[in-house]
Amino acid sequence: MDEPLKFTSDQIAVVSRALATAEDLVSEYYKLSATRMRQLNYDVKTAAELSQHEIVRDHFAQIVRYRTERRNSLLRTDAEDFYKICLQDHSILSVVNRFARIGLYEFLLYVICHELIHVVRFRRFQQRFDVPEEQKQAEEVRVHKITHEILEQQQIPGMPPVFEFYENWWTTTDVMVR
Ligand SMILES: [Zn+2]
Repeated sequence: MDEPLKFTSDQIAVVSRALATAEDLVSEYYKLSATRMRQLNYDVKTAAELSQHEIVRDHFAQIVRYRTERRNSLLRTDAEDFYKICLQDHSILSVVNRFARIGLYEFLLYVICHELIHVVRFRRFQQRFDVPEEQKQAEEVRVHKITHEILEQQQIPGMPPVFEFYENWWTTTDVMVR
């Protein structure tokens, strides 16, 4: 089997740019200060920094939740969870390669905004991490709507093809692993 596609260093630079913008937009939307953003306790990683079990075939990203064990602490709170947003380079690149109108930056911006919104909603207990499939789908639709709302306001020229692409996928849930 061929090695799955990975982002090149130029593409990683695009990921960083999309991540910075996504963080700005999501923190602004939820009125979160830089400190509050850090307390969300997440990180965004690409294939180069993923383990085998963090790579999935058919999704653009997955969120893996880890318990962060603190030594000498008897208390374990939700804030000690860590969310690793695992971007799936191969799936993202296959879309960008297949659809000439979809730019990597715009597509990443959508994907990363979407995942950050999930994380904010988990942290605010607006949504639990482990829920039945039906509730996951309803949450997925809500998160897509918010993503669309946030990005539409920015009037980014390359965004409409990404919105069109996603219209068909609103009920497809992300993989969430604990
Ligand atoms: Zn999602």
